[in-house]
Order: sequence, then structure tokens, then C-alpha cells
Amino acid sequence: MPETIYDLAIIGSGPGGYTAAIRAGQLGLKTALIEKDNVLGGTCLHVGCIPTKALLFNAEIWDHLKDAKELGIEGIDARKLNWAAVQERKTKIVVKHTKGLEFLMRKNKVETLRGYGRLTGPAVQGVHTVELQDAAGRVTLVKTKNVILATGSEARMIFGLTPDAKILTNIEILDLNEIPKSLVIVGAGAVGVEFASIFRSFDTEVTILEMLPRLVPVEDEEVSKELARVFRKRGINFHTSATVEKVERTGSGIAVTFTADGKQQKIEAEKILIAVGRKPRTEDVGLGKTKIKPDRGFIKTDGWMQTAEPGVYAIGDIVLGTPQLAHVGAMQGIVAVTRIAGKPGKPINPEHIPGATYCHPEIGSVGLTEAKAKEAGYQVKIGKFPFMANSRASIVGQHEGFIKIVADAEHGQILGVHIIGPQATELIAEAVVAMELEATAEDLVWTIHAHPTLAEAMLDAANSVFGMAINA
Ligand SMILES: Cc1cc2nc3c(=O)[nH]c(=O)nc-3n(C[C@H](O)[C@H](O)[C@H](O)COP(=O)(O)OP(=O)(O)OC[C@H]3O[C@@H](n4cnc5c(N)ncnc54)[C@H](O)[C@@H]3O)c2cc1C
Repeated sequence: MPETIYDLAIIGSGPGGYTAAIRAGQLGLKTALIEKDNVLGGTCLHVGCIPTKALLFNAEIWDHLKDAKELGIEGIDARKLNWAAVQERKTKIVVKHTKGLEFLMRKNKVETLRGYGRLTGPAVQGVHTVELQDAAGRVTLVKTKNVILATGSEARMIFGLTPDAKILTNIEILDLNEIPKSLVIVGAGAVGVEFASIFRSFDTEVTILEMLPRLVPVEDEEVSKELARVFRKRGINFHTSATVEKVERTGSGIAVTFTADGKQQKIEAEKILIAVGRKPRTEDVGLGKTKIKPDRGFIKTDGWMQTAEPGVYAIGDIVLGTPQLAHVGAMQGIVAVTRIAGKPGKPINPEHIPGATYCHPEIGSVGLTEAKAKEAGYQVKIGKFPFMANSRASIVGQHEGFIKIVADAEHGQILGVHIIGPQATELIAEAVVAMELEATAEDLVWTIHAHPTLAEAMLDAANSVFGMAINA
């Protein structure tokens, strides 16, 4: 049999890798998808985006039921949470989508190869050799004209701690048999605040410790402030500008020593979640045999996701300088494959990457914050509209938050949009399209929005850039 030479081998089957594989199949490339785990889908499908959003949906329904009387629903005063059923529903969703991915690989004629992939060096006469090591340690060689590295990331730990039943990362916390009575969360980024939101809905005593001066530190300052206000109201404890000094295991749980507000404090809890960021998984993928010189583990690419090693591309959480989000990896995969296939494409614009945080209240944002826009030298005009004055927000009983538009004062160019409130993670899509199409605040003002919708708050926010919101 002649040796198979693939057009493309992709190492890692997370949202970066599987999206790249599907597009490669669609474009007629002979494609292999290499995955070390037994299942396709990576962090996002198994221990990230999907299971957390499933739990957040349960939490949302549970919270709505707390207002059942007000909604005119009676007879559920003795509501009871069946945690095992909640977990089972989450697992069913993950399994369904894992099967969906297997189907999509077959449909697009992508060959799935199980095992650990490593680069072995530069291409020889245009052909790369990827080492594929199976669970038993046996090594086979995969020949391919191009390689995409999509090996993703894992939770960063502090103080060399190892995760167990009390000290948790995103993996262990998604697999708890019981809801903890108390939980300390280190880190108030998206992962930290989402878990805080889930477990607070289920009555856990939650305390967040954040090193930086505010919750969700990458968001616009006003968004952080509003989240802090609502979290306080929900009974979520937090300390910002807090330095964690020690984490100890105790008989019943953990004890955390930290300094905040100028004084050293100690709290005890049943469990602790470490959510201080994610480390790229690039230590053992053969980079040393290539021209790629990682920067703190991250890989530098050009706009087409090409690395310093010809024919080797990198996408997703391992890429230097782009946010570690599923939709970023997926689009980077499409950009790389389009390039490999020699088709016309478009590099991603880092200013047009939406962020979505699914805590309650939700956060959706894109582009520059007000502070960043000013730092960049823009004269800005701000349009801001509170959900309090939006009729659909009254109907769904969620009045917290606002939409804030940061526009360039001179030409009205939309520089950033920041939403906190109901369906913020859905509403942000309009802002991304507007920015991608280089719309101005004035273009939004003349765009008809259906009534009554939460999206109308975007229209009001755009009008507010000119001091002329209709509903407030
Ligand atoms: C709790 C949590 C919630 C999140 N929620 C969201 C969200 O709501 N929205 C969002 O956009 N992002 C979210 N993220 C981030 C998102 O999960 C990641 O950005 C995304 O999974 C990155 O995709 P990736 O393809 O780069 O890598 P990964 O999803 O990490 O996948 C990498 C894959 O490569 C495999 N692999 C690694 N090394 C090798 C090797 N040498 N050989 C073979 N296979 C290998 C791994 O087993 C894995 O399957 C969340 C993350 C966490 C932790």
C-alpha cells in the first residue's frame, strides 16, 4: 500500500481543531484529526463552555422559581433540587454533542487518529512527519503537507497545589456529587464569576478572591461596578486587590490566608476553586525540533495563523495575544485552513472579538472599553441605556444592567459595546456585526429594532450617544 500523505494533520480536537477539520473536509483537503483523549471536543465541550452553560441554565430556572408566586405560579413552595438529575442533564448534553462531532467528522471525511501527537522537525521535501503515540506507548508516523497545532490549555495552579476533592479546577468542580455548603473562588475572570453565580443560586456561601482591583477586570469599569453591585445583592462575597498567601487542607475542607484592605485574613470553606487563568499545552509537542520559540508557552503566529515553522500553524488557546475563547479558536481554524487550501480569506480582527460571560447578570462585550479608547487617543462619546427603562426587561423581570456604546466623537465610529444584563451574551452579536461592517452610531440609530425586545436597548443606547434616547 502506498503511504498516506495527508494535506493536513490537526493535533487537538477542541473547538479550534474540530472546526478546522470540518472546514478542511469541506474544502476537499485530505485531513487527519489527532486526539489524545477518548472523546472529541476538548475543554469547551467536556469541561468548559458547554457543561458550565448547562448548569447556568439550571441555576436560572431555579432562580426564576424563587419568584414563582409573583409570576402567578403556585403549588411549588416546597421545590427541591435533585443535583444528580442536574448533573445527568448536563452529561446528556455533552454526550449528544460529542456524538454530533463524530458524525460531522465522518460526514466531512476527516480521519480521526487516537493518540498523542508531536512534531518531529521541519518538513522534508514539503512533507512533515508527526509522531503519533497510542495509549500503550506504540509510535506510528503520520505524513502530512501541513500541520495545525490546536492542543489547547489547562488550568493554572497556584503554590504548586494539585487538584483533589477539596482543591478544584474546572474539571473537578463540574463533577461534584453534592453542592458544597461553602466555596472560595480564586480569580474573578469569566470562569470564576460563572461558577460563583451557579453555586450561589444553589445557596452555597461563595467568596471570591481577586488579585486585581475589580471583578471581571478585562471588562469596562462600569460593567465591573454593576456586577459587583448585583453580586453583593445576591449575597456573593468578594475581596478585590486581594493577595492569596496560603491554602491549607483542614479536616473538613480548606483554609485560605489572604491580605485585602490592608489586613491579613483567613477564611475556611468546604472547597476552593482555582480559576486564575489557563496555561497553553505546548510543553511536549515537539516545538524544540522546530523554529517555533514559545513565549511563556504561547505560540506567535501571523494573521493567517502561520507559525515560524513553514507549514505549521497554531490556533486556539495556545496562540499568543488572542483571548482564550472557543469562538476565537474556531475562527482561527477556519482562517488557517482557508489559507492552506489557497482560497481567499480574511485574518481575524482582534478588535472585533466578542467576549461572553454567562454569570447572572450576563456580560457581553466587544472592542475598546471607555478607558482603553481614551488611552488610545480617541475623543469619545458615550451612549448608555439602562435595562430598567426597557419594556422587555420588565416582562422577563430582569432590570439589572445597561448597554454602553463607546463611539469616536468625531466620526461616530463604534469603538466598543459593553452590555451587562439579560441576554447580554446574545445581544452582543448585533454589536459585533455592526463593528465588522464599520457601522457608526448613526447607522444604528436608523436601524429598526423590533418591539418589545431587549435589543431595543441597543437602539436607545445608540440614540443616547447623541443625547436623544427615546425611552429614558
Ligand atoms: C470552565 C470554562 C468555561 C468556559 N466557557 C467558555 C465559554 O462559555 N465560551 C468560550 O468561548 N470559551 C469558554 N471557555 C474557553 C474554551 O473552553 C477554550 O477557549 C477552548 O476550549 C479552546 O479551544 P482549543 O481548541 O484551543 O483547545 P481545547 O478545547 O483545550 O482542546 C484541545 C484538545 O487537544 C487535545 N490535545 C492536547 N495535546 C494533544 C496532543 N499532543 N496530541 C493529541 N491531542 C492533544 C486535548 O486532549 C483537547 O481535546 C471556557 C473554559 C473553561 C475552563
